[in-house]
Amino acid sequence: MMNNEQKPKLIIFTDSGDTIIDESTEIRNEDGIVVSAKTIPGAIETLKALYDQGYTIALVADGEAQSFENVYSQHELKYCFKTWTISEIVGKQKPARIMFEDAMQKNNLTDDDKKRIVMIGNNVKKDIAGANMFGITSILLDWSPRYNMIPESPEQVPDYIVHKPEELLSLIKELDIKCRK
Ligand SMILES: [Mg+2]
Repeated sequence: MMNNEQKPKLIIFTDSGDTIIDESTEIRNEDGIVVSAKTIPGAIETLKALYDQGYTIALVADGEAQSFENVYSQHELKYCFKTWTISEIVGKQKPARIMFEDAMQKNNLTDDDKKRIVMIGNNVKKDIAGANMFGITSILLDWSPRYNMIPESPEQVPDYIVHKPEELLSLIKELDIKCRK
């Protein structure tokens, strides 16, 4: 058993497409809903490890609720997420502030908690700019070649960059220690 001293303080917000799920493998039905998809190499192990270490993990993703339901059921990963914030339900996509506010609200977080929240994503315009403008720490996972990763404005510059999911484990640990000080 962990005592309170050892419990992670860092809160993890994460994107889905090309951050956990490999978008290039998505199979969609006639309504455009993703029915199945593969995960990025190392993503399942990393997500489960972070969950096992006690981190609160919140999905903050653009797309349809049923798509996420399908792929995370397929991979039996739903238990890893404490909350889901999905653009279809919120009514706006990242970088909209309301997406991050929704995740904050669902996890009973306040402005004081922002310094211990990280947002992981692959899109500098949505995930990184959204996190930076909201005032939380941004982590770019640049595994996917799908989008241009070159920031076009200061708010698109990530605080940290990792190249594959496994690299998140040491970075998250480091940031967790840092946010206790
Ligand atoms: Mg994405």
